[in-house]
Amino acid sequence: MRKKIIAGNWKMFKDLRETEDLVRGLTSRLTFDLKGNQVIICPPFTSLALASKLIEGKPVELGAQNMHPEDEGAFTGEVSPNMLKSVGCSYVILGHSERRQYFGETNESINKKAKKAIASGLTPIVCVGELLEEREKGITEQVVGTQVRGCLKDVPEAEVERLILAYEPVWAIGTGKTATPQQAQAVHQFIRKTLGQLYNWTVAEKVVIQYGGSVKPENAAELLKQPDIDGALVGGACLKPDSFVAIIQSCL
Ligand code: PEP
Repeated sequence: MRKKIIAGNWKMFKDLRETEDLVRGLTSRLTFDLKGNQVIICPPFTSLALASKLIEGKPVELGAQNMHPEDEGAFTGEVSPNMLKSVGCSYVILGHSERRQYFGETNESINKKAKKAIASGLTPIVCVGELLEEREKGITEQVVGTQVRGCLKDVPEAEVERLILAYEPVWAIGTGKTATPQQAQAVHQFIRKTLGQLYNWTVAEKVVIQYGGSVKPENAAELLKQPDIDGALVGGACLKPDSFVAIIQSCL
């Protein structure tokens, strides 16, 4: 059975003092058995080093929210995969809809980053998801299928299991509107079918597909019960220890 992975995307929230409060609040509550499931926090770059120290020996792993696809160079303002690893990251969110919308990221640029992340020993969390108008036009599968194929282009079969996909319908991110468990399950099943076509069913069955979009304690259990939903990528609700821990508990 696939384990569940709950990741918190802090976005551009929390300075160093707030980071300390949030991480201590989280780790002090994580005293229960996670039963093989995983917890990841993805703070802003400036908080990674501190968060890395604070989670030492705790059942929490560290991820970043973006990276540059080169090892080093004249890329002002960017951060490389090795830099992320050196600060304790094992994961990196790639292609979040906010990066697609505000920073011009495309399936091509996300694909380049995903391949580099894997080659560098980081696990990418690759985000896909349709806009509201795309859902209303009935082209969700077409859009999400194109994103999955584009973001995974030339990722070999042996490496695709090392990647996490996150289905995040854009209309549900930060809006309080959640996809119903049935709507989410239908797209997750479609993504797994697409992986089966791109690779094979054995591989498709192994890939973790998270759901993201206004996940909160009140809706997490129903979403996480769906057979193809293997965890959650949580934005707003990960910024308070109580709500993030309640979401983690709902997958146990
Ligand atoms: C996200 O940032 O990936 C996200 C899903 O945000 P929220 O949970 O706030 O909708």
